[in-house]
Amino acid sequence: MASFQETNKDLSGVFQLSTMTSLLDGVFEGAMSYEQFKEHGDFGIGTFAHLDGEMIGFDDQFFRLRGDGTVTLLKSQDMTPFCSLTYFRPQITKEFRTPHDKKAFENELHRLVPSDNLFYAYRIDGVFRQVVTRTIAYQDHPVPMIEAVKTQPVFHFENIRGTIVGFWTPSFAQGIAVAGYHFHFIDEKRQNGGHVLAYVLDHGTVQIDKKTHQTLYTPETESYLKANLSRSDLEYEIKATES
Ligand code: ZN
Repeated sequence: MASFQETNKDLSGVFQLSTMTSLLDGVFEGAMSYEQFKEHGDFGIGTFAHLDGEMIGFDDQFFRLRGDGTVTLLKSQDMTPFCSLTYFRPQITKEFRTPHDKKAFENELHRLVPSDNLFYAYRIDGVFRQVVTRTIAYQDHPVPMIEAVKTQPVFHFENIRGTIVGFWTPSFAQGIAVAGYHFHFIDEKRQNGGHVLAYVLDHGTVQIDKKTHQTLYTPETESYLKANLSRSDLEYEIKATES
């Protein structure tokens, strides 16, 4: 018999803590601890209070990838201002045996799903000819994200085995999350990774979990309550900070 906890898990949705729009406005205050948010998924991506690293989680293990290149497992009190989570239960699997650059690979991904208008979670395990990641560094004071990324460390990896975790968000949800693909990477040794800017898959397996809905949790932190969430050029700001 399933436990009380198990029956209350939302297995078919994406849990979204706060919005991309608030990150753009510099809302970096932690809104939920790992202890709290792990009740909403065993898989996902996000960032941390003060933008202190990039988050990646799968197989019920969550990591913090910091701007100084270090990787640590999350502690219960670690706080996030923004994350996308789910219980990863893939229905679609495909093996890729030949190299694909980002564009070719994402074209293939499109053919595996029924529509751009749904939410999907992705996991890609394999060998990558190239992965380019960024990891935003700790920000002392709230600063618009477009400023914070100006000093972001960028990492280039070649012929590296690892895992990409992320989501497809439909265009109508731009600003809640990042519309399109939003991927984070960690290597097999759990020593490197970050927010994915570019990649070439050599070979690997993709698993896709089609979700039926998104649940948006709006924080009540002081910085969120005071944020300006109407951005005059949302598309530009998201492109400049996320790709
Ligand atoms: Zn990211």
